[in-house]
Amino acid sequence: MANPKHRHSKSRRDKRRTHKYLKAPNLTVCPQCQEVKKPHHACMSCGTYNSREVVTVQQI
Ligand SMILES: [Zn+2]
Repeated sequence: MANPKHRHSKSRRDKRRTHKYLKAPNLTVCPQCQEVKKPHHACMSCGTYNSREVVTVQQI
């Protein structure tokens, strides 16, 4: 079984964790309803993508 021969130093462990953080999500504004949406995704509130309706939004 693959097993580490030596324990990594605290410095090496902490350097690995420098990439471990949460980034703020990239968001754009829907040209149809001006609602905030994820880029390259259909709008969650009006169901459009590229100015045409691609999904029907269920009314609650
Ligand atoms: Zn929209």
